[in-house]
Amino acid sequence: DSVGFAIVGLGGYALNQMMPRFDQSERCHVAAIVSGNPDKLRQVGDAYGLPQDARLSYDAFDRIASDKRIDAVYVVLPTGLHAEWVIRAFAAGKHVLCEKPMALSSADCERMTAAGKRANRKLMIAYRSHFEPFNIEAMRLMSQKAVGDIRLMRTEQSYRMGPTTPSENWRTSRALAGGGPLEDYGLYGLQSALYLTGEMPESVSATTFRPANDPRFAEIFAHVASQMRFPSGAVAQLVTSYDSAGINFAQVRGTQGALIMDSATGYSGQKMRIEGPNARDFTPGDPTVQFARQLDHFADAVRDGATIRTPGEMGLRDLRLIEAIYASAKDGRTVKLAPDGRMLG
Ligand code: NAD
Repeated sequence: DSVGFAIVGLGGYALNQMMPRFDQSERCHVAAIVSGNPDKLRQVGDAYGLPQDARLSYDAFDRIASDKRIDAVYVVLPTGLHAEWVIRAFAAGKHVLCEKPMALSSADCERMTAAGKRANRKLMIAYRSHFEPFNIEAMRLMSQKAVGDIRLMRTEQSYRMGPTTPSENWRTSRALAGGGPLEDYGLYGLQSALYLTGEMPESVSATTFRPANDPRFAEIFAHVASQMRFPSGAVAQLVTSYDSAGINFAQVRGTQGALIMDSATGYSGQKMRIEGPNARDFTPGDPTVQFARQLDHFADAVRDGATIRTPGEMGLRDLRLIEAIYASAKDGRTVKLAPDGRMLG
């Protein structure tokens, strides 16, 4: 009993990464598409063999409520639109897979989880690294103390954005992308710092930078650097930038060696090794299975009631930490955190 998805937003990630992977999923299929662009509806609808009444404009979206072919909605729109569309999908009685980051504020995340509970429907955040063999193996290695006790963690997620403006590229618009690189690429570093240490930070300090007179950074930051302290005494340093040469790196240094992931969380091309007395290279599987495995995990939750590994509560937790990072940078002080990521002042 395959889960039928309505895909909302036919942008780069939906068209080039996720939609082609439905073929590899055992329990999910594309049942409908929703877009503001009639040409895209026609082209993509033809490519996926969808009937005319499964090609919807945004205005027609609410019709899915009575459409039995559609079990779930995949929200893959610019981030500033996630909250509105997730809540609309719940109002239509559907389960929701929402792209990361969940939203641009913890308040929106709370509205989204509340709407899911009211509708008694599932909410999963598309944190694909939780379904990717290298990152799953890294979590297992760290929980088994493969580098001893964790002391230092470092992550770097950067690329150099071409010339653009907020009106041309939603990723540079504050209303659609928040502060910029941290919510987008840097979120992979933040996530891995938590799932590799297995801890929540007890405090955070951070700094942001925005160059003058660069239209790319009229509204967003160019870099965000943050430092987190964990209850065990481990410390993580996370940097992310839209204005430096490409990297996607994570390193965990323990008392007996280091785990190095370079690249750490891409669509493919992961590399992972341990340095030190237990030096070893790892190739635990094909990273490209992450997309279909993520879909099948969602189906397991919808059909069999499996517990979601990356629920709305995780997306909310991460938005709280992102808000703490910005609060620290703004005020130039260390922010103390509760175990659920709330700021303690
Ligand atoms: P994109 O720019 O390629 O596509 C965005 C789509 O939204 C476009 O089709 C655009 O037409 C549409 N859209 C609708 N309303 C819009 C508006 N008001 N302003 C601008 N565009 C509007 O973006 P993308 O890279 O596909 O990202 C979409 C979402 O997916 C984001 O939340 C992003 O963070 C997430 N994403 C996740 C991954 C991942 O690896 N999990 C990778 C890329 C993007």
